[in-house]
Amino acid sequence: MTVTIVREDAIAVVTVENPPVNALSQALRQALVDAVAELDADAAVKAVVLICAGRTFIAGADVSEFGKPPQPPHLPDVVASIESAKKPWVAAIHGSALGGGLEVALGCAWRVAVPSASLGLPEVKLGIIPGAGGTVRLPRLIGPAAAVDLVTSGSPLGAKKARELGLVDAVLEGDLRTGAIAFATEVAEKSSPPPISDRVVPAVGAGFWENAEKAVAAKAKREVAPLRALAALRKASETDFASAMEFERETFLELRGSAQAAALRHVFFAERAALRPPELAGITPRDIRSAAVIGGGTMGAGIAAALRDAGLPVVLIERDKVVVERGLANVRAIYQGSVKRGRITQSVADERMAGIIGGDDYGLLGDTDLVIEAVFEDLAVKRAVFEKLSSVCRPDAVLATNTSYLDPGAISEGVSHPELFLGLHFFSPAQFMKLLEIVPTKRTAPEVLATGFALARLLGKVPVRAGICDGFIGNRILKVTRAQAERVLLSGATPSTVDAAMRAFGLPMGPFEAQDLGGLDIAAFQRKAARERCEAPFAPVADRLCAIERFGQKTGGGWYDYQPGDRAPKPSETVAKIIAEEAVGRPQRVWDDAAIADAILLPMVNEATCILEERVALRAADIDLVKIHGYGFPRWRGGPMHYAEARGLTEVVAVLEGLAADGLAEPPCEALRRAAQAGRFSALAE
Ligand code: NAD
Repeated sequence: MTVTIVREDAIAVVTVENPPVNALSQALRQALVDAVAELDADAAVKAVVLICAGRTFIAGADVSEFGKPPQPPHLPDVVASIESAKKPWVAAIHGSALGGGLEVALGCAWRVAVPSASLGLPEVKLGIIPGAGGTVRLPRLIGPAAAVDLVTSGSPLGAKKARELGLVDAVLEGDLRTGAIAFATEVAEKSSPPPISDRVVPAVGAGFWENAEKAVAAKAKREVAPLRALAALRKASETDFASAMEFERETFLELRGSAQAAALRHVFFAERAALRPPELAGITPRDIRSAAVIGGGTMGAGIAAALRDAGLPVVLIERDKVVVERGLANVRAIYQGSVKRGRITQSVADERMAGIIGGDDYGLLGDTDLVIEAVFEDLAVKRAVFEKLSSVCRPDAVLATNTSYLDPGAISEGVSHPELFLGLHFFSPAQFMKLLEIVPTKRTAPEVLATGFALARLLGKVPVRAGICDGFIGNRILKVTRAQAERVLLSGATPSTVDAAMRAFGLPMGPFEAQDLGGLDIAAFQRKAARERCEAPFAPVADRLCAIERFGQKTGGGWYDYQPGDRAPKPSETVAKIIAEEAVGRPQRVWDDAAIADAILLPMVNEATCILEERVALRAADIDLVKIHGYGFPRWRGGPMHYAEARGLTEVVAVLEGLAADGLAEPPCEALRRAAQAGRFSALAE
């Protein structure tokens, strides 16, 4: 039973129970239509409360029906039947009323919510627009300006804000069911407001839609859905209800089959799967109630802030008292930045800082559940830290390293409980970046690995399990990206054309701009270490730039020149000269944006396939998450592996062969050829 009906005097309480999130399955849609018919026919019923069991109101569409032919009754008809019911329906909202859930609530005559409820139409985040009247009813209820914000951003609102906008009629403290029945009893005596579909959209000022279009386009960049949602909202305000509904439905159906929607759905499912990897099913993580960070530099300060933001008390250990103060100042600066941007209030910032104890005494760690090391990238320094930790921490404390390139197994040699040790690789800035690579050693216990995933959930991060190799998943692929960018440069492109091509593809920044921002010295250090291991990283131009200390923005020049106080990159004659010298004897090509993107992205896919084959990554979708959440790969492209599959792996192999023939890339690896034969990466695991 997805719906049960109980009569409380003249009020019928319709309770939806479709765990876990009361999604709008076909059975639930049918049950709601049946409930309307049953209650319309019951003369004793004066009003209806629609409420949900479990942790939330109807939280949206049933994701298991995604990609399948829709079965009747269709949601617009369900909402219409509630809206035309003979008795007023009152939606009683707790948890989330999202997507179809909010559209059902918009069919009701009234909406009430608990203070903690959130309401929204997140469809654009899945590359579609609302398909059951969301874009048509919402502007009629709350006006076009608020509707534009809600629908084109996809971000939910809290109950208080929803009340201010008129999206809900009352915010109820106390027991929701009791409050909603009282509310329904009261409104049953009054005449109901006209159905939203009978109302008109409030008029807007001149230029409203044109300005909204500019603002939405600037934010959406190349994402299609937000602008299409805006078009639907405009239609809703400029035409009658039925035509607007038809327009919305057509747009919805068209976008549902689009490449962007497929990519965004892929990412949505990948993120859900990432939080609960099947290989950890049934393994209970350890409780983490307190944490410590060793090293308060760029990463340590960010990690400390992330831990505090999740409510954990934090100890921050530095080398000596002077550096302790600098470490605390780094965290304070993060919070002050958040206050300045209006993300948190000053009192929240103060409260977070008050929960961080700084010190140089490892004795402060005697009762800490989790310690994350973020000191210099140096094996000896890190080992010395863990040796101390082993002697002061509780024997059951989980110990983690944030190393970027070192082998966590080697770092853990000498710790007294290696089964409690793992790599937790955060990305900079650690308080914001969602990616967390979780790197177990051979000796990490399953529950400690599970603890890494539980920590990611607690911090609101996207965890991806990575095997041990130079750079794990993300930085290993990054090395290929950089080498490819140089190969393209030496065969006829310029830093500006390469960067522009990658921005045109959808990345926030090109590879050369990104290096100038982050600094060229870290990668130079990695290449030095690689050469000591007898590897031969390809970076002839970057090596020469580092040799003349052009490390990027921080030295006033890198791949580009920078004027003091100005971050705008200017083409550099010095760099052009070095490129010309290094390009001598190499075949030259004429590059367009698409060819540049292929020459950089498809070798990344090739490397990623090796990573899969070596089981450094367990799933192609995990690699997509790494690139999206750690490196700004456009979400609407679905990540490099989804992009490659959608494009066709046979074509990817053919392009790589063409590049390899000209010495512009490694030839496609054997695993990629095998995946191409099957048409998908998942075949590699079979
Ligand atoms: P950083 O130089 O900014 O900070 C390192 C801090 O560690 C310094 O404040 C230093 O005083 C402190 N420290 C050094 N030895 C110590 C010791 N024995 N005890 C206590 N504190 C000590 O470096 P960072 O960029 O924050 O990097 C830290 C680690 O994180 C490195 O392993 C790095 O590879 C890794 N990492 C860096 C990034 C990044 O983008 N910067 C990203 C992911 C991982």
